[in-house]
Amino acid sequence: MARVGVLALQGDVREHLAMLEGVGADVVAVRSIDELDDVDGLVMPGGESTTIAYLLTTSGLRPVLEKKIEDGLAVFGTCAGLILLAHEILDGRSDQWSFDVLPLSVRRNGYGRQIASFESTVHVKGVGEVPGVFIRAPKIETWSNDLDVLAWHDHGDGEHPVLVRQGNVWGCSFHPELTDDDRVHRLFVDTL
Ligand code: GLN
Repeated sequence: MARVGVLALQGDVREHLAMLEGVGADVVAVRSIDELDDVDGLVMPGGESTTIAYLLTTSGLRPVLEKKIEDGLAVFGTCAGLILLAHEILDGRSDQWSFDVLPLSVRRNGYGRQIASFESTVHVKGVGEVPGVFIRAPKIETWSNDLDVLAWHDHGDGEHPVLVRQGNVWGCSFHPELTDDDRVHRLFVDTL
């Protein structure tokens, strides 16, 4: 059984743990370097990317996680987690850093502020229609042609990727953990 961690510094950790447990993974909340050592894959949840980035630095997890991703650890960043994995952050705080492991630029709150949050059906390649919950969601504005785009969404300004993968690194603009459809989590866990 795959052992899957959820980075548990801030954000919607519980919802991801429940979803992963539901698809049969052995789950662990990751707050320390020891806990990180023990996982086959890691979900980086939605929340506040500046806060999670700050806590990654103060906990000492940042360089360890950086090395693990480089060595092939499977990671899946949802919403704020996607921001943390992006090559470039638009509308970020001036000192905001990212792991730079997904070849794309992402705009924080690119779909609008809290009040503009919305739900929309998203077609995921190989899976079908899944509910997409977008909350202060980051918008992928530019991306490399090499990026594997598993789902697109058109919010009135053309198609933008909303679920992407580059090898061991996955990112998602929406919140698959906030629905009762577990197929996006299953897609990730099945690769571990
Ligand atoms: N806008 C948030 C940020 O910049 C992300 C929103 C979310 O994770 N729901 O961190």
